[in-house]
Amino acid sequence: MWNIRVEKTAEPKPLPAADNPLTFGTIFTDHMFIVNYETGKGWFDPRVVAYQKIELDPSAMVFHYGQEMFEGLKAYKSAEGKTLLFRPDKNIARANRSNDRLCIPEIPEELFLEAIKAVVKTDEKWIPTKPGTSLYIRPFVIATDPFLGVRPSNTYLFMIILSPVGAYYPEGLNPVRIWIEDEYVRAVKGGIGEAKTGGNYVASMAAQVKAHDEGYSQVLWLDGVERKYIEEVGAMNIFFKIDGTIVTPQLNGSILPGVTRDSVIQLCKSWGLPVEERKVSVDELVKAAKDGTLEEVFGTGTAAVISPVGHLRYETEVFKIKEGGIGEISQKLYDTITGIQLGKIKDELGWVVEVK
Ligand SMILES: *Cc1c(COP(=O)(O)O)cnc(C)c1O
Repeated sequence: MWNIRVEKTAEPKPLPAADNPLTFGTIFTDHMFIVNYETGKGWFDPRVVAYQKIELDPSAMVFHYGQEMFEGLKAYKSAEGKTLLFRPDKNIARANRSNDRLCIPEIPEELFLEAIKAVVKTDEKWIPTKPGTSLYIRPFVIATDPFLGVRPSNTYLFMIILSPVGAYYPEGLNPVRIWIEDEYVRAVKGGIGEAKTGGNYVASMAAQVKAHDEGYSQVLWLDGVERKYIEEVGAMNIFFKIDGTIVTPQLNGSILPGVTRDSVIQLCKSWGLPVEERKVSVDELVKAAKDGTLEEVFGTGTAAVISPVGHLRYETEVFKIKEGGIGEISQKLYDTITGIQLGKIKDELGWVVEVK
């Protein structure tokens, strides 16, 4: 048991108005979780305190060499008023795999889960209840040694902040346009692609800006060596339905192992659909798009859950999938996963954790 101190703020903020669109990542709740680390001492003084600015030395290592890890998950309010988390154990295990790769000390799993529960419980009234809304949970660790030499830091902060978020698709699932990137690359095997860390995001921004300018919402990355095999989208894993089979790139060391990806694979298998985790070349995709066997394309991630893909651009060609509409499997997966997350559908796989 970790003794997490809870110091409630004397100045709670007004809750967002009912008509607030809760644009992703713009509003933060009254409290945050914070715990310190020092080599030799370990993690100490875990506490929930008022959401506030933190003071760091300008030489803090995170600013210079990017030693940081983050996670993303959500809390939901069920119709009966219960506060539910979706597979937090998966995020916690992944956080520690990222930490390991980034030379950040491991965070004890019990501390991590208790910390999420403590801060979510404290700000429970901030969980929005309109359809599609949730409370986004952002745990992260930063290296804080005031030092310009290159080595792992000896001090860290692990924090959790919370942000109420609106429906990703307020008018129901809406297919996105995806740009298959053939110039820039995001990650290579042996690099940090399978860790959830800011470095992967800064590597992706130039391509993201280019794709936006061309009228596409997200980038689909190819492998960093041959630029031949499909990897993933900016913050989503990618799935294809090719001639009746659900296909997704296998985890290869440069792809982020998504919790939603894993949930989709398990659900599709439980429905008796053939699922293949394997290499998928862009040539195979183009061929399937041309001969009509590319039946569905969708992205998976915590933010949108399922994102149907309506258009795929590669080099000089644009392929329309499902006439730019939503596939049946995409819709069924979205309805099932969000149903489980909200406690509306029986949680047969034991994915939901109640915050009491
Ligand atoms: C977080 C993330 C995903 C999706 O993971 P989920 O656990 O499903 O939210 C996919 N790709 C990248 C690069 C990510 O950072």
